[in-house]
Amino acid sequence: MRRRYLWIGVLGLVIVSVLFGGVQKAFTQLPKPKACIIDIDGTIANENERRAIATNPDGSTNWRKYFNPELVKKDKPILKSREVLRWVEQKGIKIFYVSSRETTVLKASKWWLKAHNFPQGEVYHRRPFTRSLEYKIDTVRTIQKSYDVIFGVGDRDRDITAYQTCGIAAIKVKESSEEDWIRVKNEIAKLIK
Ligand SMILES: [Mg+2]
Repeated sequence: MRRRYLWIGVLGLVIVSVLFGGVQKAFTQLPKPKACIIDIDGTIANENERRAIATNPDGSTNWRKYFNPELVKKDKPILKSREVLRWVEQKGIKIFYVSSRETTVLKASKWWLKAHNFPQGEVYHRRPFTRSLEYKIDTVRTIQKSYDVIFGVGDRDRDITAYQTCGIAAIKVKESSEEDWIRVKNEIAKLIK
């Protein structure tokens, strides 16, 4: 009699573990949500005036001025980029703003994105004294753990190298350009159809 209960118990445990394993497998196989990576300076924010203010007479850049939060807030938005990003958001693609701006201006960047009605998204900035390319690659790879990152848009070769290293489609946009975003939209449309 006792033996029978023991077998029923063992059988029960086996059934429960198989069922639980199946449920767990089903969850781990869920497709990851779609996402994209967007650079900020020169891509969606026109930083020409800030760069001019931060350029020393010898042509070098005064980074303290360049990363001054009050100046960052005065950047002009590239309006066509906002229109395209709203369309991207409507397509169910989450936006990650990954910029080499230093973390000291994170608050100003978030303020700027909101003030200019850019779609909501997570904002990543670079810790001071870390290298821009490595920082971008590491950040995209971290996002890829939870998201199916389809493409990235940036205005610098460094952005393109970072995106390609992570195996995502890389779209280069002309620096601080409204018109070039029309082409960018077409490229995105081909990738997500
Ligand atoms: Mg840029």
